[in-house]
Amino acid sequence: MQTGKIGVTTENIFPIIKKFLYSDHEIFLRELISNAVDATQKLKAMVQAGDFKGDPGDLTIRVDVDKKKKTIKVTDRGIGMTQEELDKYLNQIAFSSANEFLDKYKDQTNSIIGHFGLGFYSSFMVSEKVEVLTRSWQENAQAVKWTCDGTPEFTIDKTEKDDRGTEVILHLDKDSKEFLEENKIEELLKKYCKFLPVEIAFGKEKEWKDGKYVDTGKDKIINNTKPAWTLKPSELKDEDYLKFYRELYPIGDEPLFNIHLNVDYPFKLTGILYFPKIKSNIEIQKNKIQLYCNQVFVTDSVEGIVPEFLTLLHGVIDSPDIPLNVSRSYLQSDANVKKISGHITKKVADRLSEIFKNNRPEFEKKWDSLKLFIDYGMITEEKFYEKAVKFALLKNTDDKYFTLEEYEKLIKDKQTDKHKSLIYLYSTNKTDQYAYIEKAKNRGYDVLHMDGQLDVHMINHLETKLKDSRFVRVDSDVIDKLIQKDEMRESKLTDEQKDDLKSVFNVKVKSGEVYNVVFETLDENEAPVLITQSEFMRRMKDMSQIGGGMNFYGELPDSYNLVINPNHPLILKIYEDLKAQEGEKLAENGKKKKELKEEIDFLEKEHSKKKQDEISQVEKDDLEKLRKSLQEIEDSRKITLETYGGSNKLVKQLIDLALLANNMLKGEDLSTFVKRSVELL
Ligand code: ADP
Repeated sequence: MQTGKIGVTTENIFPIIKKFLYSDHEIFLRELISNAVDATQKLKAMVQAGDFKGDPGDLTIRVDVDKKKKTIKVTDRGIGMTQEELDKYLNQIAFSSANEFLDKYKDQTNSIIGHFGLGFYSSFMVSEKVEVLTRSWQENAQAVKWTCDGTPEFTIDKTEKDDRGTEVILHLDKDSKEFLEENKIEELLKKYCKFLPVEIAFGKEKEWKDGKYVDTGKDKIINNTKPAWTLKPSELKDEDYLKFYRELYPIGDEPLFNIHLNVDYPFKLTGILYFPKIKSNIEIQKNKIQLYCNQVFVTDSVEGIVPEFLTLLHGVIDSPDIPLNVSRSYLQSDANVKKISGHITKKVADRLSEIFKNNRPEFEKKWDSLKLFIDYGMITEEKFYEKAVKFALLKNTDDKYFTLEEYEKLIKDKQTDKHKSLIYLYSTNKTDQYAYIEKAKNRGYDVLHMDGQLDVHMINHLETKLKDSRFVRVDSDVIDKLIQKDEMRESKLTDEQKDDLKSVFNVKVKSGEVYNVVFETLDENEAPVLITQSEFMRRMKDMSQIGGGMNFYGELPDSYNLVINPNHPLILKIYEDLKAQEGEKLAENGKKKKELKEEIDFLEKEHSKKKQDEISQVEKDDLEKLRKSLQEIEDSRKITLETYGGSNKLVKQLIDLALLANNMLKGEDLSTFVKRSVELL
């Protein structure tokens, strides 16, 4: 019998191991089974190389739980260890690497990805005693038993063991009873070992017999040793990919497409990624990408390993080259990881491009479900943008799809304004903005439909990318001004007449909203009154709603333009009616106004000829008095006009019609409108 102290350090690391990774004690099972898999794979390799002669027999790894004895046993039929190997691997190498690992990471335990590297000694997180019985593959090898009870002392003894391979027996401590539950162990095996390359048996298959489930004689194998990503793409059909998707995520929608990753150089990486149907919300992302290292599950939080937009995808990545025993923040700056994430981005873009080129109708059919993902990628990853700009689609209000290049060609002739900017018109709501869309179309313009979750950002992004281009919402201005051309149209009202009408239309439209009355000289066939909201203000408000930090805009009341068309017959009629009813009063007012103005002008001219101190106080007071009188005259005109407007049904009716066209007339206002309409009829 051999006894001794483990390792070279005198410090007792067992208490540290016990406390370490408190929330992740469960990884001990993954570590032990990984070792068993390695030992088995090594044996297989020796069989292949001819170093091991004869039949290796059944190589299944077995996991057994004994509730009475409070033990978990992991058994393999791999290469086993001789006494010297046991001493060297467990007492020295494994110990010092565990020691090193703890030393390095005891302060940042939570940020280590997957907690790789603690190895065999992680069994002491859950055990008060660990026994290892092992017999080397070498002929006539002597079986040996290693025992350690959680102190630095160990013993190695000769033992009886018929079978080749290793048996690790954990005597669980009292805090780790949960691991004696079959369900718990099965859950862990399914989580970490589902795709390991050697069969793992846990318990027996059950069968329904005489009203209950009974064990059959058949081992229950918990893993699929050849998961789809380890096979060649040429060996797989569409249904195999789908089947594998179901293995990963038993419930949920079917994915749209998949990408099989297979890289050898400059790093090893395999995997299958799936494009899910993302309908409307990025937050809903239940099926996460799973990261494996040589088929051992590591984690399903891959942030920092792949670019953020790719975390919207589903599937598996397997790479032994991702450094797993480092912190996440370190990982992000790791050159290899950067290359890996760059590579995945490229592959994803290439695959999309391939589908786009080979089957455009199919691509268009799936676009609405892909759009959010592609937009996200284009906004956040320059490299992705460069590729995606060739296949990303724009959808117009007739549900037709265009690439950016095709769309530019389509609108270039008609939608270039006088400053040579290309104007992309868009609508965020086809129903609410129906009237504006129709008007734009009648002009020969095309209108995009952009109601996606990221469209506000996408528009900003495209404006920085596309040369001399602007996006303008279709209802943000009157049709003539949406895309400004050089031609001018004559107004049938003079500026003075317009001024009067401005006051007539200065009625309270809706509380909490500000309406500016403005005139736009439109065709007489256009609407008499329109409501628009400035593109700038609306975007600022949209951004502040999404959380762009522009709270100032978010708190402003909604402000709109009430656009009056001075060429429309109804507006001219309102002016004629006004003249008929208030004409005398207004003419009188106008006359006074004119006289006062002349007098003021004259005096101002006189004063300007003199130096400031040559003007007497009396002269100054006279002028001031006249100015005040003018103000009063103007105010009184305004009151006359506003009172007239406030009681004029046609004015109200036209404003309500404009509100109605914008879907902004609701509730009580709507019913008042209906009543008034009947009256007017
Ligand atoms: P690692 O697996 O990272 O090398 P471990 O601490 O888990 O570190 O194991 C240390 C060494 O002990 C292994 O490299 C291997 O040589 C040996 N070993 C552990 N478990 C087994 C086993 N089941 N069969 C054979 N050798 C084993």
